[in-house]
Amino acid sequence: DHPFAPLTIIGTGMAGLGLARAVRQRDPDRQITLISADSGDDYVKPLLSSAFTKRQTAQALVMRDAVEVADALQARVRTHTTVDAIDTVSRQLRIGVESLPYSQLVLATGAAPRQPCTAEASRHSRVFSINDLDDYRRWRGVLERHPGRQARVAIIGAGLVGCEFANDLQAGGHRVTLIAPETTPLPRLLPPPLGRALGEAFAAAGIRVRFERQVTAIHDTGEGVALTLNDGESLEADLVLMATGLRPRTALAEAAGLAVSPAGILTDRRLTTSDPNVFALGDVACVGGLEATSDRSGNARGNAQHHGLNAMYVQPLQASAKALAATLTGTPTEVSYAAWPVIVKTPLLPVAVLPPRQAPQRWRIEGDGDDFTALAEDEAGRLLGFALTGRCVRRKVELARVAPPLLG
Ligand code: FAD
Repeated sequence: DHPFAPLTIIGTGMAGLGLARAVRQRDPDRQITLISADSGDDYVKPLLSSAFTKRQTAQALVMRDAVEVADALQARVRTHTTVDAIDTVSRQLRIGVESLPYSQLVLATGAAPRQPCTAEASRHSRVFSINDLDDYRRWRGVLERHPGRQARVAIIGAGLVGCEFANDLQAGGHRVTLIAPETTPLPRLLPPPLGRALGEAFAAAGIRVRFERQVTAIHDTGEGVALTLNDGESLEADLVLMATGLRPRTALAEAAGLAVSPAGILTDRRLTTSDPNVFALGDVACVGGLEATSDRSGNARGNAQHHGLNAMYVQPLQASAKALAATLTGTPTEVSYAAWPVIVKTPLLPVAVLPPRQAPQRWRIEGDGDDFTALAEDEAGRLLGFALTGRCVRRKVELARVAPPLLG
């Protein structure tokens, strides 16, 4: 046992730092160690995809560097340090040859970009994905070195990240092509008429859109790259941005024998993993998934409504940080999420979505042009979620009030 070992948090994203701040507020004396594979800078990740429009450099997004974070939190912060393994029996982390004891451990390791669609793309020096400030710094570096400062950027993937970067880079004066296999952008968030409206707003602003198309190859042309699409079209670009989704970083937890699923590290509503001294929150955690899998006596009782939730948004991780800080300082607290709509940062066509947690019986869609209200309903006509575009976005508050909570 290590009674004097610190509370140890792996990850200094919004989840890890948010938790450290909340614990420190409740307990001025607790020893806290934060470990990060990256620079440990404190920044707001959602700002990465609106920084061009706002004319912010990567450095301008740093609110505090790791030294200032350590000072403000009275915590130890280890940067550029990757945790290699967790021994939950002896309660130690392995970092290279070093062993580091913990009293309680929190996994806030986030999610990593999915592998690019073509294997050779991942090795290409002109192919990027942007999932943290370090990625963003490199990306801005190459963009700014570009002659004339106007680059041809091909974005692969039209989910939230791909659409937001498309809008932001276009606003920043770059020439953007958006390529995705689906028929419309934001396919998992918007029913087709609303997705079409967003695609049309992009096209009207000069973004080249190539939906229902896949990239089959990326070749170096010396000056840039040529992307071959599955319909035979070849597109030239200076840079490629992969936005093909994120996968929770569960490998460390899985190797330690903790319960995981493709949706994340499984936790109960107190954010406890299958080991009572290990907790998880943020993009890596599937909250409520542990109860869904078994009731800890081993009886499976999962059902369609109860598979746990990995929301992958800021508001849920902030609520998780608050609840977990209470639990870790002696007040066991379950987390709940209200009906928080996601505001997609596409000023070319404003979008707000409360994704339904179960497949709706139907979408009831009203509106035309740019302004749509789509209500996701069950068989009895009850509201499960909604999607709004254009001027209808202002209805988000009124609708969220009557929609079911994300995690009640
Ligand atoms: P991360 O920020 O990914 O942090 C993970 C941390 O773990 C990092 O510090 C990493 O270095 C560390 N780590 C991982 N593995 C190890 C290891 N083995 N050893 C040591 N350290 C390790 N959400 C919204 O609500 N609204 C938005 O508008 C919005 N816009 C977004 C725009 C973009 C471009 C992106 C990418 C995301 C956006 N999101 C948005 C989602 C939101 O940003 C994330 O949900 C949130 O930032 C996740 O935080 P996290 O701390 O869980 O993970």
